Amino acid sequence: MRVGILTIGNELISGRTQDTNTSHVARELNIQGWQVPILMSVDDDEAAIKTALDHILTQADAVIVTGGLGPTTDDKTTEAIARAYGLKLYRDEAILAKIKAIFDRYGLYWAPNNAKQADFPEGAEPIVNPVGTAWGFSLNVQGKLIAVLPGVPAEMKRMLSQGVLPVLRRTFPEAAQAVATRTLKLSGISEAEVDQRLADADLEGQGVAVGFYPHFPEIRVVLTVRKATDAEAQALLKSAVAQVISRLEHHIFAYDQETLEGTVAALLTERKLTLSIAESCTGGLVTDRLTDISGSSVFLERSAVTYSNLAKTELLGVPEETLREYGAVSEPTARLMAEGVRKLGHTDLGLSTTGVAGPTGGSEQKPVGTVFVALADGRETICRKYLFRWERRRVKVAASQAALTMLKR
Ligand code: ATP
Ligand code: MG
Repeated sequence: MRVGILTIGNELISGRTQDTNTSHVARELNIQGWQVPILMSVDDDEAAIKTALDHILTQADAVIVTGGLGPTTDDKTTEAIARAYGLKLYRDEAILAKIKAIFDRYGLYWAPNNAKQADFPEGAEPIVNPVGTAWGFSLNVQGKLIAVLPGVPAEMKRMLSQGVLPVLRRTFPEAAQAVATRTLKLSGISEAEVDQRLADADLEGQGVAVGFYPHFPEIRVVLTVRKATDAEAQALLKSAVAQVISRLEHHIFAYDQETLEGTVAALLTERKLTLSIAESCTGGLVTDRLTDISGSSVFLERSAVTYSNLAKTELLGVPEETLREYGAVSEPTARLMAEGVRKLGHTDLGLSTTGVAGPTGGSEQKPVGTVFVALADGRETICRKYLFRWERRRVKVAASQAALTMLKR
């Protein structure tokens, strides 16, 4: 089955808003195993909307439209679609009452033009908006399906998965296949190397689609399989995942919606380990990422941004001689920082980062991008050296990734 995408809005074609809806919808359709032959964006303009729909439907069985469902006069999508296919608009009184109830509940001012959001072309099937007031709808015209969603990304996403994809499956049952997909998240390896290490497995030959998506500082490998039944799809996917793990185990840190910080948090919580952190070049980023996880207070005792030499000495007890002899960016300093903060926090683990984020300040022995990460557990202290080749922000992100990865072991 082929499904086109049309995004509507002045703000999109003027470049003021980046069109993220298109990529999200396209990705979701691809996961379902449906082809996306065309993507279009147009102004909030009736003639432009009609021309675009006509064109897309010459090449696709269905089209997903986003944007222009709001109450204001510049939102024209519903009228444009009704007029394009010679359909009258009807007002759904039950939906109108629901929209009004939301305004009442939040004490919002009810402007009469809000009622427009309860208007639909005749024959349309409304799609509920669980997070807003703009309902969507789907419509069959000339054997094709048009599904219309609001432009606000969070609303669009919910309604796409709950309201549109099921309708598409139902409308085109012959295109329905069981699809199973898994995302593997890797770091500390290049895309080319991942590709090379997987080459001998010949996953494509087994009927597994392999997609590579760099998503700094991670690489995502998405495996997708299509089979007649769910059980067959799951079995093939399971075997494909196992083949990837056997080749890249060290680099895989999470699956699907999981994150590195989430994996680390779960691990520390499960092992009942406590942690203190001393950050230099990452400026608090490691702590920021870990505290994104709800419940991180169970394992995270404290964290210090020790940016200056003085802070490293005063707070962490790194001797002045060490800093003088080896420098702040060095293995001995990273080790002593990790050990110092561990003592300070009375925790099982102490983690540290120190490096040259750049773009200035490097030297011949320690070029920009040199980062040391250390982890102390009271018995031993391990330290790793990295050389990242990116700009300042990316060096910080990559360093935080390296530090969190160290906690995963
Ligand atoms: P609402 O009732 O909230 O106005 P709507 O359907 O009218 O819903 P739009 O007015 O088209 O939605 O868009 C609302 C906001 O959603 C836009 O200002 C923009 O920030 C965002 N948005 C719209 N379309 C897209 C898109 N394709 N990609 C990313 N963001 C979008
Ligand atoms: Mg709007």
